[in-house]
Amino acid sequence: MATRPITVLGEAVLHQKAKRVPQVDGSIRRLVEDMIETMHENSGVGLAAPQVGVPLRVVVIGIPGEEVITLINPEIVKRSGERRVVEGCLSVPGYWAEVTRSVSVTVKGRDLQGRQVRIKAKDDLLAQALEHEIDHVNGVLYIDHLESMDELRKTATETEGEGAAEL
Ligand SMILES: [Zn+2]
Repeated sequence: MATRPITVLGEAVLHQKAKRVPQVDGSIRRLVEDMIETMHENSGVGLAAPQVGVPLRVVVIGIPGEEVITLINPEIVKRSGERRVVEGCLSVPGYWAEVTRSVSVTVKGRDLQGRQVRIKAKDDLLAQALEHEIDHVNGVLYIDHLESMDELRKTATETEGEGAAEL
């Protein structure tokens, strides 16, 4: 396992649609191990492969106190409701903002063993993380959901955002 450098806003890989994983092989398993280590090293709650420079549809989510979830080729199959949440991103360091996310989210994808998995989350950090990470593999950052960059807050100067999850 090794940590990998995190890509930041402006790097092309973060702004393009990632490719589907045709088959879970050794290189994908190594990628996932490195992503989990990189996520933990940076105190993140989730990480998508484009955030370590790999244009593939792979995400990991590590809600504190819960087992890490790995999703290969994840897709949102259902979402409903709207809520406002505070959010940060390891690829947009030093900032946070309030964004609109769904209340409930259903996602399907495959795990590292290639088994089909379906995850339902409602009104929690997992629901937020699923939408944030699946946005990443579609080349979308949370700041793309803001009406104006004026809504972006600096972490260092506005303590209110200290609880914002870094995803
Ligand atoms: Zn992010």
